[in-house]
Amino acid sequence: MTDAASALAPDVRVLPRQRPEAARINIVGLTRSQLQAALIAAGTPEKQARMRVGQVWQWVYHWGLRDFAAMSNLAKDYRALLAQHFEIVLPEVVTRQLSDDGTRKYLVRVAGGHEVEVVYIPEEDRGTLCISSQVGCTLSCTFCHTGTQMLVRNLTAGEIVGQVMLARDDLGEWPERGAPKDETRLISNVVLMGMGEPLYNFENVRDAMKVVMDNEGIALGRRRITLSTSGVVPEIARTATEIGCLLAVSFHATTDEVRDTLVPINRKWNIATLLDALRAYPGLSNSERITFEYVMLEGVNDSKEDAYRLVALLQGIPAKVNLIPFNEWPGAPFKRSSGNRIHAFADIIHNAGYASPIRTPRGEDIMAACGQLKSATERGRRSRAEIAAEAGQEPPPRVARRPDAPDLH
Ligand code: SAH
Ligand code: SF4
Repeated sequence: MTDAASALAPDVRVLPRQRPEAARINIVGLTRSQLQAALIAAGTPEKQARMRVGQVWQWVYHWGLRDFAAMSNLAKDYRALLAQHFEIVLPEVVTRQLSDDGTRKYLVRVAGGHEVEVVYIPEEDRGTLCISSQVGCTLSCTFCHTGTQMLVRNLTAGEIVGQVMLARDDLGEWPERGAPKDETRLISNVVLMGMGEPLYNFENVRDAMKVVMDNEGIALGRRRITLSTSGVVPEIARTATEIGCLLAVSFHATTDEVRDTLVPINRKWNIATLLDALRAYPGLSNSERITFEYVMLEGVNDSKEDAYRLVALLQGIPAKVNLIPFNEWPGAPFKRSSGNRIHAFADIIHNAGYASPIRTPRGEDIMAACGQLKSATERGRRSRAEIAAEAGQEPPPRVARRPDAPDLH
């Protein structure tokens, strides 16, 4: 080839043969075996693949690196190959709000322009990150803001792991190279209590938690993760056998009549069926009790009779009861029980031998408390009744209240 011709010919050695962005595989959220298969497909010799998984894994999940070029224990050519086939991408943080009490709320955009919320709650002895498993929720618990959102999609494993990573970014929690090991953790606990029903997105939640628990990466212990479900009975046992994390159940009522209206999934799997599944929960023990979440709604589920019924229902289950003062949101059809009511309820549970902490609402000033989460684009736009009308449905039934209960409106 003459010099002139070679100047015109495309030089395959020089032109970057980058894959188009969309075709690159995001490493975040792949399990070790998925990553191994992807590395082999990209040209990693099979014999080296396991070792490469270990190296890449450490860079991504231990050091928090996003740039293949900086993976200094890999050959330059191999770093280029990785950059050509892969990317390390987290959901985008759209807004970050800081509450007076130190709670942080991130509005996060995932593929398709959907948004979910992530909340970080610092406490004296721990820091809890509340993450989402779905955009919105298909279940319409009548007291939950998320449940009023029509649009729902499952988050990918990468989008779930990405929530933990972006919070670590914001908190500056990745270890510094060369610095002494720091055992204090800003994110010491993760709870799947944000938007969505995690057991309706089981595989992605499981894979994401495996990544988060992996010892060579973020290394969060399995007992530092709590999955909260509204009661998807057929999937409950898998939480123990396939993830191994702790379980919380959104119980909220002591009769099927009331639970049917508060947590509509109860019409499919009622209290007795749910309790049977919990009694049979693999690995249940006093050190790994099930948390019963119980939202305190004035005049609906907060009577002394309710408390006694709850104690009777819990019999035989290593349990603790987490009492959640109802967090109000615009248009919510309930009110928070009074402090006296909540304490009287807690005392009955406590005297029966169960821990019954009352959850302190956190981040209320930024709408970050339990059940207040909703994509900003959706927030405050429409009431539940308006949504039902739009969908051509009857609005959900109101909960029958005790005759002595004060009127809500
Ligand atoms: N979908 C799962 C996890 C997300 S909800 C579930 O329902 O368990 C996390 C917890 O917040 C649940 O116990 C839920 O019942 C509770 N919650 C929802 N809305 C609430 C509100 N407005 N005030 C207080 N707690 C609420
Ligand atoms: Fe969904 Fe949980 Fe809210 Fe019910 S409480 S609507 S299951 S997010």
